[in-house]
Amino acid sequence: MQRLKGIFMVVTVMLVALALPSACMAQADDDAFTVVIDPGHGGKDTGCIGRKAKEKDITLAVAKRLGDKITKKYGDKVRVVYTRKTDKYLTLQQRADVANGEQGDLFISIHVNSVDKKNRKRASLSGTSVYTCGLHKTKNNLEVAMMENSVIELEPDYEQVYQEFDPQSDESYIIFEMSQDLHIKQSLQFASLAQKRLVKTAGRVDKEVRQAGFWVLWATSMPSVLVELDFICNPTQEKFLASTSGQDKCAQALFEAFRDYYGK
Ligand SMILES: [Zn+2]
Repeated sequence: MQRLKGIFMVVTVMLVALALPSACMAQADDDAFTVVIDPGHGGKDTGCIGRKAKEKDITLAVAKRLGDKITKKYGDKVRVVYTRKTDKYLTLQQRADVANGEQGDLFISIHVNSVDKKNRKRASLSGTSVYTCGLHKTKNNLEVAMMENSVIELEPDYEQVYQEFDPQSDESYIIFEMSQDLHIKQSLQFASLAQKRLVKTAGRVDKEVRQAGFWVLWATSMPSVLVELDFICNPTQEKFLASTSGQDKCAQALFEAFRDYYGK
């Protein structure tokens, strides 16, 4: 019963949050397709850290390159919106508010992966995965969502804001089983295009399209994916992710996926 009450409260909070008008509501051009690019982490939230590189810097660099490529190709036909363009801290809900307020047609959240320091394989792990929101099929997928959702804990009043949603508790993730995702078909379509291009164009090992309960995907009311480019805990992949050419390859792969998805 306690668990059901918790779930009810989480769902209620989410519905209220989604219904709130965003402060950054903009007048959208009716004809323009709006792509919202979300560079993961920022400011005091560094994300995963390699030997030198930080996730927040890699995600911002790839996001900007992706946005530039889309604008260069499509001009006014596609509106590119960033959740952040500088090294700025944003909560997950603020990212979703930007996307919903701008009436995005597609939301791409960019991240890099890592595993716990206790994991003996951490230096040799590699590969790319594009996630859509859903119930995880494996413990590994749940762990990735837990890691990304744990940034909630940086918010001073997160227990009030997110009510019963505890990013570290398995039980919290039952909400993702109960949810109905109206955009799952398009999310999966973009995810598989992005997965294919990240392997082919950016030369990443294929760790397949996956599902897990990412809060930021849940809170955006449009087709949405979260990209884990590669593992920063692997020094070889860290070097690739931190390099200009590596970042450009990742951005080019995501651009090609966008081109395939947009279809014009
Ligand atoms: Zn991340």
